[in-house]
Amino acid sequence: MPKTTRSKLETRIGFGWDSHAFKPGIPLMVGGVHLAYDKGLGGHSDGDILLHAITDALLGGIAGPDIGTLFPPSDPQWKGADSVIFLREALKRVAEAGYGVANLDSTLILNAPKIGPHSAAIRARVAELMNIPVDSVGLKAKTPEGLNHDGAAMAHVVVLLQRTKKKPALRRA
Ligand code: MG
Repeated sequence: MPKTTRSKLETRIGFGWDSHAFKPGIPLMVGGVHLAYDKGLGGHSDGDILLHAITDALLGGIAGPDIGTLFPPSDPQWKGADSVIFLREALKRVAEAGYGVANLDSTLILNAPKIGPHSAAIRARVAELMNIPVDSVGLKAKTPEGLNHDGAAMAHVVVLLQRTKKKPALRRA
């Protein structure tokens, strides 16, 4: 039988992944930042692959339900939703589990637009949303060489969670 007691881990790791297809004429949102481009990422929400992958990484870190379970694509209330809502729910659940975010690292895979010129803005926005220092937000971008994925963008994210709640002090008689 698996143990039913709560984990006493001081740190936990979480991993998240997401992909969306490019569609013409919609805004491109990456990490809560609007990037000027003639296409955006389609999806039931605003299609922000980076925030979706971060959200799933946070939820995975506490072995919680995934983003699609909490915010089903079939539910019309999430159509065009700001993905910051999803991220905030995941952060709330992480805090309730007694953890905070130590750092995160991410890799975006897309052919265009180039992420380099927007990297500082994306890292700053993600850091702000997560209430962590900018140097705790890693962001790398790769082109999908040999993958034939020109029409889509992908995001991979790992987060490290650190226990925040203090243990009760030992009382001596
Ligand atoms: Mg998504």
